[in-house]
Amino acid sequence: MPADVGITVRPYQLVCSVCARGGKAASVSESVGAILAAVQDAPDLPVTLSCNVGEVFAYQDPGTADDTPEGAEFNVRRDLEILHKLNLEPGCTLPARILYHRLLDRIETVAGICGYPRVTSDAWEGCPDAGSGNYERGRALGISAFIPPRPVGELEREKAASLEAMYQASPVHVRPHILLCAVCQYGNGIRPPYAEDNLPELIQVILKKPETLILLVAGADWMMCAPCPYRVPGINGCVNQLGSGGLPNRMRDLRMLQKLGLSFGDVRPARELFRLIFERLPGTLDICRLEPAKPSVWWDGCGAPAENSESYNKGKQQLMIDLGI
Ligand code: SF4
Ligand code: SF4
Repeated sequence: MPADVGITVRPYQLVCSVCARGGKAASVSESVGAILAAVQDAPDLPVTLSCNVGEVFAYQDPGTADDTPEGAEFNVRRDLEILHKLNLEPGCTLPARILYHRLLDRIETVAGICGYPRVTSDAWEGCPDAGSGNYERGRALGISAFIPPRPVGELEREKAASLEAMYQASPVHVRPHILLCAVCQYGNGIRPPYAEDNLPELIQVILKKPETLILLVAGADWMMCAPCPYRVPGINGCVNQLGSGGLPNRMRDLRMLQKLGLSFGDVRPARELFRLIFERLPGTLDICRLEPAKPSVWWDGCGAPAENSESYNKGKQQLMIDLGI
């Protein structure tokens, strides 16, 4: 499959790519080297994990062409042990960034996956690298060894350019739920300059000019999110929270639009919008609550607990006074 569509790999090949990072570059196999290069190039590339399990998952069996030489049963078992640890099913497709986060988070060692403490027969000798420490060393390098972070210089340039654009803009583009994040930040005492987004600066603009027009937009829009380390510029994507933040954040945007009776594309003066927000949203739970078990693409440390955010409460009280609401 071409890289812009996605790649299909065996679960073990993903794990071997971590092993490869922790071992000698010269010993990296061609297929594993290709996976590492494709992910480095396109970190949100769709990756399908397929393996030979038959039965009800036979539709996705890839065949044995990519089996390593240790034997048929070993190959199947290794793939299944990996999927079990990742809590994923054969044939599932996820962005590479989410998969690597989950892999590094969930698989601490390949002991018991790629090799066993006791060799019970020739068929169960396991991979010769299983006890080498290569995987564990590769894992210790962290996510940035597989998914490059946004360069600091790029973030600084984006901060300057997007702020300049915001100061000139009418209306200012904002995705809905981060107006709540702005209130939480305000309650936490965060004031400009703020490196990771333009919300504190937006609040200062609104305090000076409460009639500033706000346009509600979808996705990690450039005007507010440009300098965020978790923004993926090419797709207006948000990849905070182990790569999956875009999902809960999109849901939060839509929960908020429903509560306010608004839609993407609506424009409102800032003070009017905040008055509506404070009327309809006494706390953060209706918008931010998530109830996933880890691992999950719905996991998100922010707002997931069962309590309304105290920072929102504080920020709301202060902003109501400062905006004369
Ligand atoms: S121990 Fe062998 S099979 Fe397991 S990840 Fe390393 S190279 Fe791959
Ligand atoms: S990219 Fe995501 S985490 Fe970053 S500011 Fe935007 S919504 Fe928040």
